[in-house]
This record gives sequence, C-alpha cells and structure tokens, in this order.
Amino acid sequence: MSSLPKLRIGQGVDVHAFTTGDHVVLGGVRIPHTHGLLAHSDGDVLIHALCDALLGAAALGDIGHHFPDTDPVYRGADSRKLLRHVMQLLAERAWSVVNADMTLLAQAPRVAGHIPQMLACLAEDMGVSVDQLSIKATTSERLGFVGREEGIVAMAVVMLAASV
Ligand code: MG
Repeated sequence: MSSLPKLRIGQGVDVHAFTTGDHVVLGGVRIPHTHGLLAHSDGDVLIHALCDALLGAAALGDIGHHFPDTDPVYRGADSRKLLRHVMQLLAERAWSVVNADMTLLAQAPRVAGHIPQMLACLAEDMGVSVDQLSIKATTSERLGFVGREEGIVAMAVVMLAASV
C-alpha cells in the first residue's frame, strides 16, 4: 500500500430548483435570469457539487454535514465562503487539488459565456491555477426536469494528492 501514490478521487452532485427571482449564482458568478434558484444559501449549485467532490475525496462527509441548512448562519450564505472553508479543511489534512472537472446541466440560462469568470472565481478560492479547473455546460435537449427549466444540475469530479 505504501508504494501507491497518495491520490484520492471524489465526486459531487447537486440539484437546485428554480423559483421566483432575477438571477442565479453559478461558480461564484451572478448571472441575470428570469428565475432564481431555491436554496437556503445563495443556491450556487456548481460550488455545492464541487465542495461535495472535495469533501468526498478526503472522506470528510458532505456539505450538509459541515454546513447544515438548519443553521441560520448559512441562510443566504455566499457559497464561495463555504468553498474556502472546505479548502481549509483539506489543507489541514495536507491534501492538494490536482484538478477538478465540472459539468452544469441547464436548459437556461445560457452559461457558456460566463465560464471564464467562474473559473477565475473558483481558482482564487481554491488557491489553484485556472488550468487545473474545467467547467462544461450542456442542456438536456429539453428532456426531464432540466429540459422543462424546473432546475439545474451540477456535477463535479476532483483529484487530490497528498502534499507531503
Ligand atoms: Mg446545494
């Protein structure tokens, strides 16, 4: 076992439903839209999936365990703060991020044009280079709840390496 590289993979998935509103927050970026995302926090489904992937890779539970939605502290929370907190938990355990690959599944809004800004936000919060991060966006070809514009799905996969 000791000769194996100390690498860990993690995955995260999150879903938020649309509700009344005039913008969504995805990857730390505010995007004007005809609806908002229903959530206890700012509803940043992409950051939530990313946090779950990071926590999963380190076997540290999930975002609901660390930031319970019953706790008023996290009402309307800026998810970038949650991400920075998760990165602190990893740093305390000497884990470094090798890369993260994320996918947004959304019929609307169109997010492709916002991806460079999302990457910049996430790289800053994670203390990594933009080229260690990837965000892709796709629709569901109008199929299912995503296609009916009832909500957005985000998925993330990360790899961690022991930094010592
Ligand atoms: Mg969430």
